[in-house]
Amino acid sequence: MSKVILVTGGSGLVGQALQHVLNDTESDPAFRAQPDETWHFATSKEADLRCPEQTRQLFEKYKPTHVIHLAALVGGLFKNMSHNLTFLRDNIRINDNVLSSAHDADVTKVISCLSTCVFPDEKGLRDLYPLTEQKIHIGPPHPSNFGYSHAKRLVDIQNHAYKQEFGRNYTSAIPTNVFGPYDNFDLRDSHVIPGLMHKAYLAEKSGTVFQPSGSGKPLRQFIYSRDLAKLFVWMLRNYDDVEPVILSVPEEQEVSIEYVVDSVVKAFQKNRASTDPSKPFDVKIEWNRAAADGQFRKPASNEKLATLLKESGVQFEFTPFEQALHETVDWFVKNYDSARTGVNKQ
Ligand code: NAP
Ligand code: GDP
Repeated sequence: MSKVILVTGGSGLVGQALQHVLNDTESDPAFRAQPDETWHFATSKEADLRCPEQTRQLFEKYKPTHVIHLAALVGGLFKNMSHNLTFLRDNIRINDNVLSSAHDADVTKVISCLSTCVFPDEKGLRDLYPLTEQKIHIGPPHPSNFGYSHAKRLVDIQNHAYKQEFGRNYTSAIPTNVFGPYDNFDLRDSHVIPGLMHKAYLAEKSGTVFQPSGSGKPLRQFIYSRDLAKLFVWMLRNYDDVEPVILSVPEEQEVSIEYVVDSVVKAFQKNRASTDPSKPFDVKIEWNRAAADGQFRKPASNEKLATLLKESGVQFEFTPFEQALHETVDWFVKNYDSARTGVNKQ
C-alpha cells in the first residue's frame, strides 16, 4: 500500500538529514525514498504546531498515512536550564496536537522523537545503567532539563493510552545526543558539538581563546544525524509496536566532553589542511570551569535496536565519530554564512 509520510520539524537538524538520506543520489540506496512513498517536510512557517487549528489544517492538507514527528522546542544544556517552563509547555502542546490530529486523521503510524534526556537521573537509583527502553519512568529526570524531559516522557504515556483506548500503534524513537550538518550552531543555546564548533571557529578567526564549558568530565554518546535519519526510515518501514526503541551507538562509544573538544579541534585542523595548508588551524583552549556540567552521564543500551536490525535483515553501520565530525566541520565552514549560528551576518 502506498504511503504518504509527513515529517514534522522537516527543516531542523534531523529533518534535513532525512531529506539527505532519502533524496541524495550518493546516499545508501537501501534508505532512499521508494516509489510508493510520498514525503512531505513541514516547518513552523507552514504550521505552528503549538496551535491545535494550524496542526489540524496541516494534516488536512497532506492527508498523511504515516508521520515522523520531529518538531520540538530543542536546545542544549544552558537553554534548557533557563527555560524549563517554556520547554515543558511548548513541547506538551506540540506533541498533544500532533498525536490527536494524527488520530483524528486516521494516521496508521506515528514515530515521535524522544531523547535520552527523558531517562531518570542516577541519583538514588541502583543499577540504572545502561539505560534501556523499560527504564523511562522509574525516577525523576535530571533537574537541568526537567521541563523538556517530562514533556517528552508524556509522549510515551500518550502512545500507550492511544493503544489502550483506540488500538493505535503510535510509537517513539529515543536518540542520544545528535549532531551533523544543518545543526543549530548558536553560541549559547545549542548542544555541545555545534556550540564547540562555532566557538572554535570564531576563536581561531579572531585569535582569542577557545572556551569550552564545564569540567570536560561528563560523558555522552553521540549519533550522526544522517545515521539517525537512516534509522528513522528503517523504523518506519520495519517496526510496528508501541514500545520505544533507543537509537544509539553502542555503550562502549561513550566519550568525555574533553575528548569531544580535542576531536573538534582535530576536525578543524584536517579541514584546514585540505583547504589552506599554508595556514594551520591553531587555537588555545581555556576551559570555563565555572559553567555547569549538567547530567554526568546517560549511557544507553542499543541492544534492542541491534536485535531488531538483525531480524529485519537490513544492513546498517554507524559512521565513525571522527568521520562524522569531519563531515560536519566541512559543512559548517563551507556554509557558515547561511548556517544557524545566531550571529547577525549582515
Ligand atoms: P532543530 O534542529 O532545532 O529543529 C527543530 C524543528 O522543529 C525545526 O524544523 C522547527 O521548525 C520545528 N519546530 C520547532 N517549533 C515548532 C513549532 N512550534 N511548530 C512547528 N514546528 C516547530 O531540532 P533537531 O535537533 O532536528 O530535533 C529533532 C528531534 O530530535 C526533536 O524532537 C528533538 O527533541 C529530538 N532530539 C534532538 C537531539 C539533539 O541533540 N539535537 C537529541 C535527542 C533528541 P522551523 O525550522 O520552522 O523553526
Ligand atoms: P545535554 O547532553 O542534554 O546535557 O546537552 P549538551 O549537548 O548541551 O551537552 C552538555 C555538556 O557539554 C555539559 O557537560 C556541558 O558542560 C558541556 N559543554 C562544554 N562546552 C559546551 C558548549 O559550548 N555548549 C554546550 N551546550 N555544552 C557544552
